[in-house]
Amino acid sequence: MQSEDITEYREMEWFGRRVNELRYTLSEHALRFMVAGAISVKDIEAVLLTGRVLEERRNPIRTPSYLVYGTSGEKNVHVVCANGGDNWLVILFAYVPALPVWSSPTQRRNRGGETMTDHVGTCFFCGGALEEIIAGNYDYRLEGQMYVIKRLPATLCAQCGEKYIRADVAKNIDALISEKTFSGTETVHVVDYELEKDLML
Ligand SMILES: [Zn+2]
Repeated sequence: MQSEDITEYREMEWFGRRVNELRYTLSEHALRFMVAGAISVKDIEAVLLTGRVLEERRNPIRTPSYLVYGTSGEKNVHVVCANGGDNWLVILFAYVPALPVWSSPTQRRNRGGETMTDHVGTCFFCGGALEEIIAGNYDYRLEGQMYVIKRLPATLCAQCGEKYIRADVAKNIDALISEKTFSGTETVHVVDYELEKDLML
């Protein structure tokens, strides 16, 4: 695993070419974390152009995914990506590696015999530790309508930013919405991408 073998070199070269051709897509999970301001598209591109493969995850039913480590400015970033087919690269998620999963940007922390406090589960996506939070604003879509849920109890992956909501809480939200129990209304800014994109040229 330590050696810079030819396979690893070829993977990075392949990722770099996809980035230069803009032949990649971002999962909604990656997008949401970017919207939160933790990672930018520029960070992801920098890592895919200059980083290295840290782990390869083989999967019996999907194509393998790759954990790529690199830096963007001063920031250490992990990007998890895969060949999405048709020579497209798909960015599954990206995060800043941190404790308790990573003791350094390239070293997984040895969890042997350790007790983790405040640890209420493990993130399905990145293996990071989940902690209980009260989310200030949570966008919730139901039957084409958007609702903003304030002060929502959730668990948050401190590493990749994924949020999880318990089943009973989700059922309560559905019930409150169907009973139209609203605390207020807020204005939402809408970008119609088809309409606005030409203004960017
Ligand atoms: Zn995670």
